[in-house]
Amino acid sequence: MLESFDPLRRVQHISRFIGQVVGEEKGPSLIFFGGIHGNEPAGVKALEHLFNTLEKNVFKIRGTLVGIRANLPALLQGKRFLDQDLNRLWTEEKMAEIKAKPSAEREREEMELLELEQLIGEILIAYEPPFYFIDFHTTSSKTLPFITINDALINRKFSQQFPLPIILGIEEFLEGPLLSRMNKLGYVSLGFESGQHVAESAVKNSIAFLWLTLVFAGALPKQDVLHFDSYYEELRSSANEDSNFYEVTYRHELRKRDDFSMLNGYTSFQKVTKGTFMAIQNRKKILAKENSILFMPLYQKQGAEGFFLIKKTPKWALKISTLFRKSKFDRLLCLLPGISWSSTTKESLLVNLSVARYFTKSFFHLLGYRNRQVDKTQIIMHNRERAAKNEMYRNTPWY
Ligand SMILES: [Zn+2]
Repeated sequence: MLESFDPLRRVQHISRFIGQVVGEEKGPSLIFFGGIHGNEPAGVKALEHLFNTLEKNVFKIRGTLVGIRANLPALLQGKRFLDQDLNRLWTEEKMAEIKAKPSAEREREEMELLELEQLIGEILIAYEPPFYFIDFHTTSSKTLPFITINDALINRKFSQQFPLPIILGIEEFLEGPLLSRMNKLGYVSLGFESGQHVAESAVKNSIAFLWLTLVFAGALPKQDVLHFDSYYEELRSSANEDSNFYEVTYRHELRKRDDFSMLNGYTSFQKVTKGTFMAIQNRKKILAKENSILFMPLYQKQGAEGFFLIKKTPKWALKISTLFRKSKFDRLLCLLPGISWSSTTKESLLVNLSVARYFTKSFFHLLGYRNRQVDKTQIIMHNRERAAKNEMYRNTPWY
C-alpha cells in the first residue's frame, strides 16, 4: 500500500536497538523489550536511561544486556498497534501462517514479528545462558506496578525477589503474548507493568525495576548500584507494600464491534463487590459477577479485554504446589482412566472431559498446568514445569 507523502517522514526513524552491552566477565543474558505496544513508551524511556547511564559510567557488567524496541511503526505513531496487536501473534499456528504469506501481503505487525523472531534466534545463539526475557508495559488505568508471569517455578522464584505483586496465569486468558512463547521455550520470562501510560512514575518505576533486575540476575553486584536500596524502597512503596501472588479468575472479552466504556475512576487492584456497576457495553450495564479484585480496566479504544478480575493466591497453595511439582505428582494422575500424556515429551496431559469434571481448574493449576484447549471430548493441558529449563538457572543466586 502506498503511503501519502509526509514531509516529516525523513525524521521518523528509530532503530531496533536501544542499547547493547557485552561484559568482559561471564554472566546472564538479559533481553529487555519496550514498546511492543506502541502507546506504552515508558519501558523504552527507562531502557534509554539505563544504557545512557551505563555508557557514561564504569560499570563492570557480567554477561550481556540487550534493549529492544519491539513495535517500531506503532511506537512512531504512539498507537497500541497499527494492524494487529503484536503481543497476540506468538502462537505456533499464527507464526506459521505469517511465514507462509507472500511478503507483500504481510501486515505491519506481522513483519515486526518476523524481525523480532529472527533477532531472538540470533541472540540465543550469540550469547551465553542463563537467559532472561523481560517485557515492559503500562496500563490505560491507574495501577500499582506489578509483575505478570506464566506460572513456572523458575518464574515465581525469580520474580519473588521484587517487592511487587505478581499475577499468575494471565496466559490462560490471552492468546499469543511474546512471553508465553519465550516460556514455552523454557526461559525465565517476566512482564513488568510499571503504571499508567502517561504517568512519569511509570518511567521511574521501570528504571528502578531495571537496576533491581541487573542485581537479582547477577549482572551487577549489589554494591555497584549506588542507589539500590532507594530503588527497592521506591518500588515497594509504589506497590503499596503488596508483594502477594494473584490469579486471574475472569477476563471480560471484547469483540471488535463492541462499544465498551468503563465507568470513570476505577483502578487496578481495587476491590469490587458483587453487583457493582462497572461499565457500559452496547448500551447495557456490566455488573461485577462476584466479590473480587479488579484488574486492568480498559480506558482506551484499542484492546480486546474490558477488564479482568483477580484473587489472591493463598500462601499455603503456593507451598503445596511447589511440593507437588517437585515430586512430579502428576505422573500418578496418568494412572487414572481418562488421563494420559499427549506426547512422549510429557509436556501436556490429555484429559477426558468426563474425568475433568471431577477435578477443579485450581487442582490442575497447583500442578503447574495451564492453557486448556478443548475439543469435543478432551482437554489438553500444558505443563509449564516440563518445558522450563531449570538446569540453566541452577547456579544463579536466586535459584
Ligand atoms: Zn501493553
